[in-house]
Amino acid sequence: MDITNNALALFLAILAGTGGWPLGRPAAPSRPPLTANGGTIPNMPMDIRLDDVLVLKKVHPCGGNAWLVYRVGADIGLRCTGCNRLVRLPRSEVERRVRRIRRGGEEIVPRR
Ligand SMILES: [Zn+2]
Repeated sequence: MDITNNALALFLAILAGTGGWPLGRPAAPSRPPLTANGGTIPNMPMDIRLDDVLVLKKVHPCGGNAWLVYRVGADIGLRCTGCNRLVRLPRSEVERRVRRIRRGGEEIVPRR
């Protein structure tokens, strides 16, 4: 028996002692989802800021559908850009009706 065979025997003995080829072990289980609903991002309030112009699905009787945000809180205060009428709507109502947000020359399509 030469030195090569001895080395091989030693190697096999180490493998037997450590439970097998270390590189052949199954990969670690994948991470569990971050949230209980399968990893999706939880509902976040829509990003509505003062001085945004909201384009709503519903057209105002005056013909305008763009509203300037003049107040942000539990209710969203909106001023019709067509006739300057002021309305206050619950945030949930605004989020359901908004189609686009104009902010600083940009048009944002909110994600739902
Ligand atoms: Zn109006």
